[in-house]
Amino acid sequence: MAAKNDEKGQSLFVISRAREALQGFQPYDPAFTPCRVNLSANENTHELPAPVTEALRAAMLTTPLNRYPDPMANDLRDLLAKRHGVRRANVMVGNGGDELLFNLLFTFGGPGHALVTCPPDFSEYANFARMCETPVVPVWRDPRTFEIDADSLVAAAQADDAALVILTSPNNPTGNLVDPSVVRCLLDETDALVLVDEAYIEFAGEDASLTGWVRKNPRLMVLRTLSKAFGLAGLRVGYLVADPEVVNMLAAIRQIYSEDVLAQSVACAAVSRRRELAPVVADIVAERERLRAGLAAIGGVEVWPSAANFLLVRLPAASRVRARLRDEFSILVRDFSYAPGLENCLRITVGMRPENDALLDALAILAREEA
Ligand code: PMP
Repeated sequence: MAAKNDEKGQSLFVISRAREALQGFQPYDPAFTPCRVNLSANENTHELPAPVTEALRAAMLTTPLNRYPDPMANDLRDLLAKRHGVRRANVMVGNGGDELLFNLLFTFGGPGHALVTCPPDFSEYANFARMCETPVVPVWRDPRTFEIDADSLVAAAQADDAALVILTSPNNPTGNLVDPSVVRCLLDETDALVLVDEAYIEFAGEDASLTGWVRKNPRLMVLRTLSKAFGLAGLRVGYLVADPEVVNMLAAIRQIYSEDVLAQSVACAAVSRRRELAPVVADIVAERERLRAGLAAIGGVEVWPSAANFLLVRLPAASRVRARLRDEFSILVRDFSYAPGLENCLRITVGMRPENDALLDALAILAREEA
């Protein structure tokens, strides 16, 4: 049969052959334009302390590439298990948190296995759920405070007999922590697996983490990543602290070599030297509060508190301001104004002091002009 092309030049024949749940998906577009200051992806823009950088480099240079990786990354699992006071069997490593999120939906989702989310939250949850034919039940946060109503959440999880509930703490893009009592209610009053996504938890302080709950709560899983506080977004290492049965399920379905040898050895070096990263995290937290005060002082700009390495702001003509920041000042931030509940909102990663100052100066000018 001859292939027909639509006006975009895509082959309709090929699309019709794709799995139905995947129709309509487009390649991920990070809307990235090379810019002088990139505060768009919640990366760590700080340089790591020199001894840490040297240790990572040494790990890279001494890792042989001719052998396949250890599929389960056991050396890294052991270091992470020690860090969190759990056993190796409680840790699953993945090619970034994203791979683990996809594999969780692939494993526990599917038709009839509902996922409950609390939007506005990380958009990949709903994307991966759709790819895995998983019904998504959104329990919307309070539109002003972005708090989660525990009763509504529990009711939704019960009504839909949810397979999985995802809570993000601190939440991307709203910056607030999950109240641990909400997690307690879910564990006590529903049968769902509960994932707490702690990608940004280091910026809230380790006390805010729920990894310590996992051993006594087999339905609780905590997701962590080296992409944020560790400054290793390019390395692609995330991990889950969970019950050994969950880890075994995920181990059974994963791409066996998804965590390459370089990622494993560099991650081991980074986790071993993690205490040396504390000053970097402390500086980002201090800059976050300075940036927040500076943003709040700009007329027309509303800024929410944040426990993460980014701030959510609302201001008039946000999309145009974002485009002008990029085109006139070479500063990139993330536009959320299209997202339900986030009208006229931008998300700004906390950078180094000069980056934050450049953003504040530019935004003060644009907010006045666009008021
Ligand atoms: N969870 C949240 C809330 C995130 O914001 C991100 C990255 N933006 C991830 C998970 C995944 O991060 P990574 O794949 O880089 O580990």
